[in-house]
Amino acid sequence: MIRSNAETIPFNKASFVGNEQTYIAQAIANRHISGDGPFTRRVQAFLESDLGVGRVLLTTSCTHALEMSALLLDIEPGDEVILPSFTFVSTVNAFALRGAVPVFVDIRPDTLNIDENLLRAAITPRTKAIVVVHYAGVACEMDAICAIAGAANIPVIEDNAHGLFGSYRGRPLGSFGVLATQSFHETKNFTCGEGGALLLNDPQYIERAEILREKGTNRARFFRGQVDKYTWVDVGSSYVPSELLAAFLAAQFEGKSEVQAARAAIWNRYNEALAGWATQQNIQLPSVPAHCEQAYHMFYILLPSLSERTRFIEHLKERNINAVFHYVPLHSAPEAVRLNARGDCPVTQDVSERLVRLPFYRELTSIEQQRVIDAVKAFSTRLAA
Ligand SMILES: *Cc1c(COP(=O)(O)O)cnc(C)c1O
Repeated sequence: MIRSNAETIPFNKASFVGNEQTYIAQAIANRHISGDGPFTRRVQAFLESDLGVGRVLLTTSCTHALEMSALLLDIEPGDEVILPSFTFVSTVNAFALRGAVPVFVDIRPDTLNIDENLLRAAITPRTKAIVVVHYAGVACEMDAICAIAGAANIPVIEDNAHGLFGSYRGRPLGSFGVLATQSFHETKNFTCGEGGALLLNDPQYIERAEILREKGTNRARFFRGQVDKYTWVDVGSSYVPSELLAAFLAAQFEGKSEVQAARAAIWNRYNEALAGWATQQNIQLPSVPAHCEQAYHMFYILLPSLSERTRFIEHLKERNINAVFHYVPLHSAPEAVRLNARGDCPVTQDVSERLVRLPFYRELTSIEQQRVIDAVKAFSTRLAA
């Protein structure tokens, strides 16, 4: 076995734009380090105007924004929620916490997004929500999805953790669903370590969202002078992030264009450099429809089989390159079985065994990326043409 002496290229690395420390120092100097101070307002206003969303509320995570969505839609035990099986556990957990029965819909083999052609058959009189995930930051087929959901009068929620600043037919992701959620976890394009946001496109949910986020109190109205004391008016929890995190995030968003341009350049270089090799080796590269402007969240490849993938990851590891796989399908997971979840997802099962994500972060240098490309191209599948 070859063991390289080269420095390890990680799968992900947190990267900084510039003013993170300055703004955190400013938040400390402001003596406002709890939530909803000037940095929180700045970030929320930026996202509202950039995405064309009526109201944005920063939250402690995307998971918590999803939990707020389930509360806002009054999801109750026995309600059904339609969603992909090929996603992170939080997409389903937020609804399972309210007693919902997950109904899993399989993904398209090209974009790995929920297959809109299978959606109508999954709807029943108990369906309370359809949750879509723009996998890898490439939009789901929102025209078809919104038409089907609209005809059945079922709200759509976008788990937009991958899709921030991507668009579908020119319209920003996160602006389609009645609600949408963002993640600012360290692994996402823009981060504050741990954090998220709830995007509200339907004004009917705004006031209650503020209450749920503030422990079930009308504190937001009190601060606006709309009530003379604040009190317990609903259920809720503690979903407000600290100003220290908002300050960090404000600095990150100042680099929106540079960050996205750098990630686009890395993505395009992988795509161009690996195209010939992929065809020869029976390997599938990502598919981005012409009407989708992607968010450049990740670069993945699909190996021909699970055993080839295992060999491929080991091949890169021997060269000190970390590549990872995901997602373990949700529809066949122990908790799905316990909840009597429905939905057969053969494409999800197949893809989850063959997908690998290559190192992808803004500070990946061209020398490092060349090392990854060379290592990848030195791999040959047993099915090579
Ligand atoms: C990262 C991620 C989440 C969870 O985000 P947190 O902010 O860590 O809670 C949810 N859904 C998807 C699709 C994700 O990629």
